[in-house]
Amino acid sequence: MKRIYIACLAKNILFAAACIMAVVSVMVKSVPVATGLLYATAGAFVLGVIVSVCFFRCPYCDRALPKAARTPDVCPHCGEKLR
Ligand SMILES: [Zn+2]
Repeated sequence: MKRIYIACLAKNILFAAACIMAVVSVMVKSVPVATGLLYATAGAFVLGVIVSVCFFRCPYCDRALPKAARTPDVCPHCGEKLR
C-alpha cells in the first residue's frame, strides 16, 4: 500500500519542480540557461505524467487513480480503503 504514497509524492515533487523551473526560466536573462531549464521542465513534467500513469494505481484493482494532488481515501473503482 506504501507504493501509491511514494508514487503520489514523486509526481507532486516532479510537477512542483516543473512549475518552479518554468518560473525560473522566465526570470533568467541568459538564453542557454533558460532553454536548458525549459527542457528540464518538459522532462520533469513528462516524468510526472509517467509516474502518475504507471505507478499511481489502486493496489487492489490496479486501475488508475484520479489525478488529484493527494491520495484518495478510498478507491473510486472498487471502494477499497487506500489509507
Ligand atoms: Zn481499486
